[in-house]
Amino acid sequence: AKEEGGGGRLEVYAAHMHAAVVRRLELQTELRQALADGDFVLEYQPVVDLESSQVTAVEALVRRRSGDTVIPPEDFIGAAEESGLIVPLGEWILREACGRVAQWRAAEWDIGLAVNLSVRQVLSPRFVETVATVLAESGLPAHVLTMEVDEEVLLENPGEAVARLSELRGLGVRLAIDDFGMGYASLAHLRQLRVDEIKIDPSFIRDLGTDGTVTLLTHTIIRLGQDLGVQVVAEGIERPEQLERLRAMGCGYGQGFLVAKPMAAAGVEALVGDDVRTPAG
Ligand code: C2E
Ligand code: MG
Ligand code: MG
Ligand code: MG
Repeated sequence: AKEEGGGGRLEVYAAHMHAAVVRRLELQTELRQALADGDFVLEYQPVVDLESSQVTAVEALVRRRSGDTVIPPEDFIGAAEESGLIVPLGEWILREACGRVAQWRAAEWDIGLAVNLSVRQVLSPRFVETVATVLAESGLPAHVLTMEVDEEVLLENPGEAVARLSELRGLGVRLAIDDFGMGYASLAHLRQLRVDEIKIDPSFIRDLGTDGTVTLLTHTIIRLGQDLGVQVVAEGIERPEQLERLRAMGCGYGQGFLVAKPMAAAGVEALVGDDVRTPAG
């Protein structure tokens, strides 16, 4: 960089910007190739009924395989959204997860499926049609599928997003608000959109029992869910005290490393035991 004036700094800045843009374009090309090569994989994290400790559903979570490393969604979902690749990727995720869970159900396991959606998917043309097609192809009943949207989905183009999601719910698919309590307008969203489930953000669970305000807010969210007749799932349960406290507060369902980490499909089958096997295996 040059020493004189501000021009040098501008040049350095421009070089940084340029590098960032190039990296983003490279990543988008990589992701497109990864989808073509079948390098995305799904893990499934069990959701349990806190009263009975039974696994009631699994949440599908996408990862990217690159050689021997596994890349978490935080590192590519943003770029996939930006480039629009999230639309075909999201369709692959839905098809893969519905197919897997349909197999488990065919083996007499009464299990539900949760799949995450990004705003770009919800607003894409033929979104609802695609979900209906995938359900029909997999034979999975609509009410077994929960689609999770975080509050960001409801910010970008609220009218359109609410319309599409309501249509989706019209198919019989359940809707969940993910990361509930972290958005600017959590309560307003419950008013705009009819949902079947709220998932309490892990930041609440983390400070449960140690921060009085957080504990009170968590309890309030659980009661709100009960009063609205909406299922409540606590996310990010890592310690036994958190689990006990959530149970005592009447929280219906939970998810977290204490209960089970996200795992490959085979891991879920092993966890559930010998009575559940895919018809093929
Ligand atoms: P999310 O939907 O809120 O998923 C929960 C995240 O919390 C997962 O991270 C899960 O592995 C992690 N988690 C679960 N239990 C615990 C716990 O006890 N402690 C801690 N520290 N973490 C826990 P993951 O798989 O890295 O996913 C991160 C986010 O990426 C997801 O948040 C979701 O927003 C997005 N994502 C994941 N899969 C998909 C997908 O298929 N499509 C879309 N559009 N987004 C996805
Ligand atoms: Mg989720
Ligand atoms: Mg989220
Ligand atoms: Mg969440």
